[in-house]
Amino acid sequence: MKAAVLVKPREIQMRDIPKPVPRRDEVLVRVKSVGICGSDSHLYKTGGTGPVRMSGPLILGHEAAGVIEEAGDEVKNRKIGDRVSIEPGIPCFKCSFCLSGKYNVCPDMRFFATPPVDGAFTEYVKVPEILSFPLAANTSFDEGALLEPFSIGLWACHRSGVSPGSSVLVTGCGPLGITSIMAAAVCGAAKIIAVDVQDFRLEFARRAGATVVLNSSQGDIIPQVLAATNGLGADVAIEATGVIELVQSLHEMVMRGGKIVIAGISAHTDFVPVPLRYLMRKEIDILSLYRYANMYGKALNIVEARKVDLGSLVSQTFPLEKVQEAMEFVEHNPDKAMKVIIRQT
Ligand SMILES: [Zn+2]
Ligand SMILES: [Zn+2]
Repeated sequence: MKAAVLVKPREIQMRDIPKPVPRRDEVLVRVKSVGICGSDSHLYKTGGTGPVRMSGPLILGHEAAGVIEEAGDEVKNRKIGDRVSIEPGIPCFKCSFCLSGKYNVCPDMRFFATPPVDGAFTEYVKVPEILSFPLAANTSFDEGALLEPFSIGLWACHRSGVSPGSSVLVTGCGPLGITSIMAAAVCGAAKIIAVDVQDFRLEFARRAGATVVLNSSQGDIIPQVLAATNGLGADVAIEATGVIELVQSLHEMVMRGGKIVIAGISAHTDFVPVPLRYLMRKEIDILSLYRYANMYGKALNIVEARKVDLGSLVSQTFPLEKVQEAMEFVEHNPDKAMKVIIRQT
């Protein structure tokens, strides 16, 4: 089968590699749509993500959907021809974290496109049956792929208790910010304030359900956020920019007793000093996120019920042979690229 292989930073080659053979409990999926994520772009540019470096050739792509073409002997609830979304993290299913439902922190997690595990910019991938989620007829492969970032948005809202009537501040309106806005809206948030420096992205934010949009390049956002929240600040802030100065000022825009969810971190630093005294005085909780657990089924139900339009995030598509071109496009067009999809027919 064909695969787009990152051989070193900024060099992707099309290679012929062996097609995976599903084990007894696995399905083989013919890949149809794969989203390009910020982590893919970062690996493409630098060959690493956080402390993890690529040790050899790597296939990127972890936001994927496709059609089941083979099923192992023990597969019970999927069949050949099923259209599915793929949850891309394969935990051990045995450790105490897996058994307690927090499989996202399984120490033996094998996550697509995280060195040394290959991803989905290829013709076929295999996954355990239970990590393939059947798509309804009204749900496209692109939407199936985008269940991944949407699951992170849902996890952010779940962790921070966003509920009917909540006020939510979302800083950063890339795909993760936008799916967080969508998630906050379906969780019942009544006031959603979106912040970005690009009007292009704020337009997506508005369509996704933001009730107030603020361009932070055009003035101080703190008084504007306070004005939009009766001077109190938001119940919850979901931070998706990784901009350190912004992280450090969030306590001024969050209500007493509120919560800050750190959904993204700058690619260039491991340590971020935070104003602990000010956070303590207002008893603001800081929550971190690591991917998500048990969100795909819910995400799928929400998309199937047409409560969110994940397809509206797709800004461009490229074929498998043009992954490198797509990566370059994403990097050089922040004012045009929201979610770029690698599509196969
Ligand atoms: Zn992603
Ligand atoms: Zn485990």
